[in-house]
Amino acid sequence: MAVIGGGPAGLMAAEILIRHGVRVDLYDAMPSVGRKFLLAGKGGLNLTHSETSELFLSRYGARRAQVGPWLEAFGPEALRLWVHGLGVNTFVGTSGRVFPTEMKAAPLLRAWLHRLRAAGVRFHMRHRWHGWSEEGALLFATPDGEKLVHTDAMVLALGGGSRARLGSNGAWVPLLAQRGVPVAALRPANCGFDVGWSEHFQTRFAGHPVKSVIATFTDKAGVMLCKPGEFMVTATGVEGSLIYTLSAGLRDEIERAGAAVIDLDLLPGRELSTVIAELARPRGSRSMSSYLQSRLGIKGVKAGLLRECVPAQDFADPARLGAMIKALPMRLIAPRPLDEAISSAGGVMFEALDQHLMIRPLPGVFCAGEMLDWEAPTGGYLLTACFASGHAAGLGVLAWLNRNKP
Ligand SMILES: Cc1cc2nc3c(=O)[nH]c(=O)nc-3n(C[C@H](O)[C@H](O)[C@H](O)COP(=O)(O)OP(=O)(O)OC[C@H]3O[C@@H](n4cnc5c(N)ncnc54)[C@H](O)[C@@H]3O)c2cc1C
Repeated sequence: MAVIGGGPAGLMAAEILIRHGVRVDLYDAMPSVGRKFLLAGKGGLNLTHSETSELFLSRYGARRAQVGPWLEAFGPEALRLWVHGLGVNTFVGTSGRVFPTEMKAAPLLRAWLHRLRAAGVRFHMRHRWHGWSEEGALLFATPDGEKLVHTDAMVLALGGGSRARLGSNGAWVPLLAQRGVPVAALRPANCGFDVGWSEHFQTRFAGHPVKSVIATFTDKAGVMLCKPGEFMVTATGVEGSLIYTLSAGLRDEIERAGAAVIDLDLLPGRELSTVIAELARPRGSRSMSSYLQSRLGIKGVKAGLLRECVPAQDFADPARLGAMIKALPMRLIAPRPLDEAISSAGGVMFEALDQHLMIRPLPGVFCAGEMLDWEAPTGGYLLTACFASGHAAGLGVLAWLNRNKP
């Protein structure tokens, strides 16, 4: 039995299989496994979320029907217990997100790999899978040259297409497509966007956080998403948690219409009428920027955003300026490239899979993790579904082996 890809999904599939007495060889292209998982640990490792299961499931949008059964078998609570079983405690943050107490991935991964090795999983690093031989053997490029491996069944857990330097580069897409497996193009998810700042704004404000705003985006179906939070100005546009939350809809809207507009409330704590009343007071000899700062506390990057996005003539009109402060239209023109994204949308389409995550046109070949065609926002939903799909694929392989090798 081969598992290819040593991220959370592949390692979980390997765990299920070895626990049930199946001999498992795990192959990975990189010198070590779990590199993206370790990077996720740098941001605190948001493992999962403590919200109700209904809300949790809603995060998978159009794929909730497919992800639901994985989570029923291995959902957020089971994941937490499993992490505790590795000797790592977890806690629920103020936002309901679940983290390991140390907020790192390394201790968890270390304990997990130790357990997998002790159970008998054999790890083969620097083995890049690149398809099948004519006889159906798996082909690996290794430092010692080409290697052919024959297996009864396999789990592919090759990840999406972001952060290629960590191992998952999406090179598997043509390998599966050539074999008739329908694959939706990989696209950036939880990504930043280009705005096309002026030279002046970019020079002054790239790297500045924009804090305590509310962003509103209305998609083409008229569904309005309204989220409080903060984001970061970059050299070319915007990124950060608030933007990632809205990114799937923004990306789709840009694909459809060429641009997407977010309305930013720069002063969430104040009513529009109060803002306009403040702006209507006489300015005297003060400059507009010192006036905005003293009357409304708008300064720095928020003042810069106003200058960048509001036509000059509107500054003289309290009603128009007030409306802009409460709903500043920020036009996004392109998502940042896939490689920069936190995760990928697209992947192996569910119509190609049976309920055990086996690729129907390729009997004995199972798939798990981010390489499947689902997406979710940040908040622990990505890792939870990767673990859960690895769990599902592992169980799927066992059922298949039982059916085919009595
Ligand atoms: C900066 C960052 C922070 C993140 N933070 C969080 C977070 O806090 N919470 C959360 O839920 N999610 C987070 N994520 C997302 C999460 O890390 C991924 O969704 C998850 O790692 C995907 O797991 P996977 O097993 O499907 O794939 P991966 O983790 O990408 O693993 C795939 C493995 O397959 C190997 N591989 C690929 N191609 C081949 C090949 N041809 N041959 C052999 N091996 C191959 C790769 O080397 C890699 O080891 C974050 C992602 C990033 C980039």
